[in-house]
Amino acid sequence: MSIAERLAHVQGEIADHPPQCLLAASKHVTAATLRDAYALGLRHFGENFLQEALDKQTALRDLDGIIWHFIGRIQRNKTALLARHFDWVESVDRPLIAERLHAARAGMEPLNVLIEVAISGEETKGGCAPEDVPELALVISRLSHLRLRGLMALVHPQPELAEADFRRMAELFLALRQTQVHADLDTLSMGTSADYLQALQQGATEIRLGTILFGARAQEPL
Ligand SMILES: *Cc1c(COP(=O)(O)O)cnc(C)c1O
Repeated sequence: MSIAERLAHVQGEIADHPPQCLLAASKHVTAATLRDAYALGLRHFGENFLQEALDKQTALRDLDGIIWHFIGRIQRNKTALLARHFDWVESVDRPLIAERLHAARAGMEPLNVLIEVAISGEETKGGCAPEDVPELALVISRLSHLRLRGLMALVHPQPELAEADFRRMAELFLALRQTQVHADLDTLSMGTSADYLQALQQGATEIRLGTILFGARAQEPL
């Protein structure tokens, strides 16, 4: 199937609940393929590996209006490059990372950030504990070169358990928005190829799709 056919299928499925943002999760997908996706109208791309992303950004620098999101694990020694080369960083999970991104973003428009929440409790995944979200949100809200937009999560891979994770994320998001400092948060990023419809039903405003748009990907960075 072509990307055009795959995208048309997804767009049909989400027609009833279109998200604010359909992010193409493009790890290990080549720049040439991203160029095709761009030609089909996709603008938001999410990358997990810094060097791979920087190479693609260079290869695609002639394309106007691409919005690059970082959705991978953050190493503290990479924060300066992340801050300067991405429009969004979705995987902020501790104050130190937020502070380093803030420092490196000086002189630019504020960096959009999401707090990644370890909602499934699986230790292999990144993210801050749900109970630590309010404090981290407060730290970020005081950093002028960052703009907190909301929350991100990878939920449990089993659909029966994913449902509860989505619901708890929606509750966390709502609770944050009810505090005055965070009333303008507008992004709840959750749902992948396996479960994006379920995520949208639970209030996701952004879904992150890889396999369903690009097919099975290589397992190693490009
Ligand atoms: C790879 C990835 C996705 C997309 O996963 P698919 O199952 O390929 O849709 C979404 N979010 C994150 C954080 C990812 O790393």
